[in-house]
Amino acid sequence: MTMVDVTVRGAGIFGLACAWACAKRGARVRVVDPHGVGAGASGGIVGALAPHVPENWNEKKAFQFESLRMSGPFWADVAEVGGGDPGYARTGRLQPVADAAALVLARGRAAGAADLWQGFADWSVERSADDWAPASASGWVIRDTLSARLHPRRACDALARALTAKGADIVRDAADEGVVLWATGWQGLEALSETLGRRVGNGVKGQAALLRHDARDAPQLFADGLHIVPHADGTVAVGSTSEREFSDPTGVDAQCEALLERAREALPILRDAEVLERWAGVRPRARSRAPMLGRHPLAEGAFIANGGFKIGFGMTPKVAEVMADLMLEERDGIPEGFRVEASI
Ligand SMILES: Cc1cc2nc3c(=O)[nH]c(=O)nc-3n(C[C@H](O)[C@H](O)[C@H](O)COP(=O)(O)OP(=O)(O)OC[C@H]3O[C@@H](n4cnc5c(N)ncnc54)[C@H](O)[C@@H]3O)c2cc1C
Repeated sequence: MTMVDVTVRGAGIFGLACAWACAKRGARVRVVDPHGVGAGASGGIVGALAPHVPENWNEKKAFQFESLRMSGPFWADVAEVGGGDPGYARTGRLQPVADAAALVLARGRAAGAADLWQGFADWSVERSADDWAPASASGWVIRDTLSARLHPRRACDALARALTAKGADIVRDAADEGVVLWATGWQGLEALSETLGRRVGNGVKGQAALLRHDARDAPQLFADGLHIVPHADGTVAVGSTSEREFSDPTGVDAQCEALLERAREALPILRDAEVLERWAGVRPRARSRAPMLGRHPLAEGAFIANGGFKIGFGMTPKVAEVMADLMLEERDGIPEGFRVEASI
């Protein structure tokens, strides 16, 4: 007799969240990962849930907006059921405005946000005021109230606890039973590329660091391509490098030190903060650069959730919803550009 309705391969954020969405609908779920929970890209420290700019709206931006909007209730539910703390809070974000032209653009986007973000969050431009603000050549910063943060490693742990509380298994090895979801991150993209004989995606390594500095209620900063994210536990994460070529997927090197130095330049208050951790992981990037969701091209009854790339955590609640719709109810709400076929 089949004991499991859904087997999820991969205990990263995509696998765990899809498992959670299925378990919430009453499915019997088993998550299988030989390396354990959060062993891949999802076991990191940055956790910026930040929106695309509110203009030139498209299906990717709409999907992400919906996902960010779902994130508060999603993570509150996970915390309540399992007792773990994902460290989620909608604390907003500040970005520096470079010059007068950028100021005009930034102000124009406030109107776009009022429309596209449907009153859920604002985009405004204000004078750069205190010492928790990115260095701004114009003296102005953009504040948005849609951005949120969570602690990736703890979010994985919180999901694992919630799944266990719901009766799901999380194991290192098991045979397939029921429908199968492959949420195997960059290794999964490599394996599929090899099987198909063409590249469907690749890994992009990132390094990040964690500092001791308590700014738990402050907004995250995005400056000079850098995310500076205060966490609830009195730490601040700084991310990330973007490396297409790498030989050691989890090794940290001089690029991490350069990142730290840029963060100290962007926000001098961090200059003397103790470095608690340096971390590296590999993001799964599908060929389309968008999430890669849908039916498995080679295996009957199997599905894929991959390609979270740089915004996997922000996309998670909506990815989990559309995958559970498809796997359990044969309802297909996956945007065209996110389909597996867009990358193979
Ligand atoms: C430095 C860095 C900073 C980042 N910052 C952010 C950020 O601020 N905001 C954001 O939204 N995103 C961020 N990301 C991206 C985010 O981490 C990823 O999009 C996300 O973690 C991908 O999740 P995943 O579950 O698809 O992959 P993974 O977390 O890599 O999970 C895949 C899992 O599959 C397992 N696996 C592999 N092969 C098999 C197999 N054959 N069978 C079973 N299991 C298998 C692996 O052990 C792994 O646990 C960042 C990533 C990095 C590296």
